[in-house]
Amino acid sequence: MTEKEIPTQWYNIQADMVNKPMPLLNPANHQPLHAEDLFPIFNEECARQELDQTHAWIDIPDEVRDMYKYYRSTPLVRAYGLEKALDTPAHIYFKNESVSPVGSHKLNSALAQAYYCKKEGVTNVTTETGAGQWGTALAYACSVFGLELAVYMVKISYEQKPYRRSLMQTFGAQVTPSPSMSTRAGKDILTADPTCNGSLGTAISEAIELARTTPNCKYALGSVMNHVALHQTIIGLEAEKQMEMAGEYPDKVIACFGGGSNFSGIAFPFMRHNILEGKKTEFIAAEPASCPKLTRGKFEYDFGDESGYTPLLPMFTLGHNFMPANIHAGGLRYHGAGVIISQLLKDGYLTGVDIQQTESFKSGVLFAQAEGIVPAPESCHAIAATIREAIKCKEAGEKKVLLFNLSGHGLIDMASYDRYLAGDLVDYAPSDSDIARFLKDVEPLQ
Ligand SMILES: *Cc1c(COP(=O)(O)O)cnc(C)c1O
Repeated sequence: MTEKEIPTQWYNIQADMVNKPMPLLNPANHQPLHAEDLFPIFNEECARQELDQTHAWIDIPDEVRDMYKYYRSTPLVRAYGLEKALDTPAHIYFKNESVSPVGSHKLNSALAQAYYCKKEGVTNVTTETGAGQWGTALAYACSVFGLELAVYMVKISYEQKPYRRSLMQTFGAQVTPSPSMSTRAGKDILTADPTCNGSLGTAISEAIELARTTPNCKYALGSVMNHVALHQTIIGLEAEKQMEMAGEYPDKVIACFGGGSNFSGIAFPFMRHNILEGKKTEFIAAEPASCPKLTRGKFEYDFGDESGYTPLLPMFTLGHNFMPANIHAGGLRYHGAGVIISQLLKDGYLTGVDIQQTESFKSGVLFAQAEGIVPAPESCHAIAATIREAIKCKEAGEKKVLLFNLSGHGLIDMASYDRYLAGDLVDYAPSDSDIARFLKDVEPLQ
């Protein structure tokens, strides 16, 4: 695909949805939120995109498109090696987002968010990161657009994942282990427990506090939000054109699912044809069995973060206090499913499947041996779900076309592969009573 053919607009599925997502609510009075209510935290353009239910196509700014040209279009690859290894009649394609300079799809939204901040006169950006992929993507994007970035990294990851931390620092970001003494929220926690390991909830609280108390500083998120899903549709829009060049159309579109950004990115442009033209493509979201919000969660208004700082979001959730097991796919350990996906799941446009981490790594190793690319532990979930489908095709003698998103590579996750290869990984799924216990904290709204 030539540079000229890179899409010039993102696709906003909200405009075409039959049942629109329910409104975000102010937790204080349960009133629907307007874009202006989000301005103190997010840049204004992303706040408007978040709630836009009317414009199906949104222009990609030239400055962002120029940056996309550094690594886009990303390749659409026919996985001949994997097909052969599985001896399946299915045609397997993958969209390779691992070729982005930072190694994952996250850069597609990081560049857009950094650009809008720059354009609106923002000088400082803040965020939190767990595993570090989002922090790395945003660090590079901020360096491109000349913004200062402060990342709160969960302390235990800061200590256990030194390479992701050094990547962020190499791109010029300031990385602080959270909890820290630089914010009220961090100080309170450290005073009570000086040895605290930190959590994503605390890191979010610190980042939001910094954004609120620093002039010209905005907060940026790498998943879950509607505007992030919007930016990621560049993946599926390119894939649609590339599949056409290959002379095929997918029967099934598959991606791993954490907060939903890479799934939305590859799925929405194809799902559009299901909504508008009655096409029958199947969409499969592969979540970890340890954090099964799509398959075992409940549709309720819940907070997006553990501390209850965000608006109330109508979504499939395991409860904002849900504690996922410490699996190696750090990017998939999130309790909720985001607003658009949740409505689409309710309306039957996609199905969730849950995958245990040993099946997921086993699939990742098979893929690596067949295709020569080591997938991110998150992406291994998509590969596992694809392999299940390819085996079904073999059993039924069906020549289906499968398309999955390779959201990132695993070259900085080799410690996790080491543990898998040494046989140290165990499977885990929460019991029904665990799930019920965390869901008790989510009040149904009257
Ligand atoms: C962050 C991440 C994910 C999970 O996030 P989504 O928003 O669900 O896409 C998946 N794969 C990779 C490589 C990631 O970095």
